[in-house]
Amino acid sequence: MTEVASASMAKMFVNGEWVEAASGKTTDVINPANGTVVESVPKANRADTQAAIRAAEDALPEWADTSPDQRAALILAGVDKIKQQSKELAKVLSAEQGKPVFEAMGEIHHFLHGMTFYAGLASKIRGSQVPLPPDMGKHSFGLVMKRPVGVCGAIIPWNFPITLMGTKLGPALIAGNTIIVKPASSTPLTTMKIIGLMSEAGFPAGVLNCVTGPGREVGEELLSNPTVRRIAFTGESGTGRRVMEVAGPQFKRITLELGGSDPMIVMPDADMRKAVSGALIGRFWNAGQACLAVKRLYLHEDIHDEFLEALIKKVNAYEPGDPSTKPEKPAVRMGPLHTAAQRDEIEEQLADAVSKGAKVLCGGKRPEDPALAKGHFFHPAVVTNVPHDCRLVQEEVFGPVLPVFKVKDLDEAIALGNDNQYGLGSSIWTQNLQWAHQAIRELQAGVTWVNQIHYGYDELPFGGVKASGIGHEHGPEAVEYYLETKGAVIGGLA
Ligand code: NDP
Repeated sequence: MTEVASASMAKMFVNGEWVEAASGKTTDVINPANGTVVESVPKANRADTQAAIRAAEDALPEWADTSPDQRAALILAGVDKIKQQSKELAKVLSAEQGKPVFEAMGEIHHFLHGMTFYAGLASKIRGSQVPLPPDMGKHSFGLVMKRPVGVCGAIIPWNFPITLMGTKLGPALIAGNTIIVKPASSTPLTTMKIIGLMSEAGFPAGVLNCVTGPGREVGEELLSNPTVRRIAFTGESGTGRRVMEVAGPQFKRITLELGGSDPMIVMPDADMRKAVSGALIGRFWNAGQACLAVKRLYLHEDIHDEFLEALIKKVNAYEPGDPSTKPEKPAVRMGPLHTAAQRDEIEEQLADAVSKGAKVLCGGKRPEDPALAKGHFFHPAVVTNVPHDCRLVQEEVFGPVLPVFKVKDLDEAIALGNDNQYGLGSSIWTQNLQWAHQAIRELQAGVTWVNQIHYGYDELPFGGVKASGIGHEHGPEAVEYYLETKGAVIGGLA
């Protein structure tokens, strides 16, 4: 079995080899729970990235010629290797990202499920045959052919580094493309180990590359280098704008999965127990650092007080602390915020709301335990009386703070739900089909869940509207972004 935490693994993977940055520079990966260095990784620059792009370009013709079954078999062999080491990988992910180990395990499983899903789709990619008018010859027909786009760049954020790599890797590889993965600077370790395990499964050199380094160097090179034909980006809306500025003028195939501020609407006939649990997981999973998260809760006035009481009881059960340990039940572990800046921003957004009249019903503070002082911990908060135009409502809140609003009917809930620059997810909790239909039709979001937690299924296309992005990941639909459509005409008989 491969040793997961070997020294060589802390190098980056280019052209089938573990390499250092040409400059020899490294970046420390810091554990957000205690400030210790987990491991160091190469700090690549533009020249290092160019080497990876060349390797991916050289590997392209041979990889594009492999059969779909071969590609699927290699992915599944990689999945097997990763499965065997999932517990160790979850610990590394927890240490670099800050999420509790059981959440990290969930993320690894989601990745494996997604890769298996795409392996199954490899042999289903197809074009079509089109009969043409006989003017240019009888029996002439057209072919719609699907071909790989070419060298792809995958730029990944720190909040779900592994699942968000899978949503790019799977469709890119089955479509016959080569790829360069650029993880976030603060979460490269599990990514590199997974790339290593995948490549051990037998991917030819240059098909799968991982370059670690700052976005302004590695990321910008992927965006600007003309050899890279496809950019799959997940991250902040501001960085998404930069992706469009640099990669757009080169007509690259771009998808942007950006920020969100999902509204959750609870109607009076909802299953209260399920809805409370939906709000809880939807807002506080990953310490609230999720794009798809319940960032605003709209409760019908008839159930507002009862719901809020049940919710606060559950929120109070969260115990911020060491993500590698479990607290005694009924307490539930919440890891730290990923960075100090992340926590500062949440505190500023909350303070702004409080200064405008908001009432914090629970949490909203750093823990007093001196043993936690070196981590970026924060007690999850529920807030009411929040003016709809303040930062806590209008900006993306990337942490465990939930503003709650009382509404008189569905029309008001939908109007407030749409009063936001983002349009990623949304949900309604009701047994009334008419209300569900109205919410699905009128909420401005890429997805509306009905009585379901906000979750990105591998089987279903997922993408935002408004400032939440362009294009889709997940589902067979995502594969289209990694394919070029070429037409051919087969001349008819005289
Ligand atoms: P960032 O946009 O800061 O970073 C995302 C990635 O982009 C990182 O790898 C980063 O590298 C890289 N990057 C930074 N600057 C550039 C640049 N100029 N050119 C190219 N690449 C660059 O986002 P965060 O990591 O802070 O992630 C959190 C955000 O991601 C939130 O807004 C969240 O909502 C969103 N997100 C969206 C999802 C969706 O599916 N819609 C899913 C998950 C998260 P480096 O780390 O080196 O700076």
